[in-house]
Order: sequence, then C-alpha cells, then structure tokens
Amino acid sequence: MFELAKKCNMDICYRCGEKIDDITDFTIDRKESWLLGDDPAQLFYDMDNIAFSHARCNYEAGTKTFVSNYKNSLCQINLQLLEPKLLQEICRF
Ligand SMILES: [Zn+2]
Repeated sequence: MFELAKKCNMDICYRCGEKIDDITDFTIDRKESWLLGDDPAQLFYDMDNIAFSHARCNYEAGTKTFVSNYKNSLCQINLQLLEPKLLQEICRF
C-alpha cells in the first residue's frame, strides 16, 4: 500500500501536508471518522473518504476526537447523576 501511494504521489500526509518518508509512519486515515458516521460500514469502505497520514498525525487527530466525544457523552450521561459542581469540573478541560 505504501509503495502504491508513493507511485501515485499520494504519500503526502492528509493531516499536516508533509511527505511521508517512512513506511512505519504511514497509516491509512479517514477524512471523516467512520466510527462516528451515520453509516460506519459505508464510510469505512468509501474510497473517497480514504486518505494517508503520518501515524503520529492520525493518532493525534483520533485521540482528540475520541477524547472530545468521551467528554461529551460523559457530560450527557452524568448530567442527572452528578452534583453540578462536579460536572463542571469534568467538563471544564
Ligand atoms: Zn503528518
């Protein structure tokens, strides 16, 4: 896959725009997070949704998405259960 991407001049990181030099740093990324889409299977296999990125860039973006979603769901779920002050603490950062 990495060789193919290089041949097609697609070895440019979708996230930061830099060239991906090393195969260990090469990941298949998705422009829209398929896990969060309305139709995960369709997004996962959608070729238009596929991009390449550095492992670190992909990971960073994924982690951010995960953390913000985690926080959102945490705030929604616990809205009824937690003391308002404690809820503020969780949602603040
Ligand atoms: Zn990058």
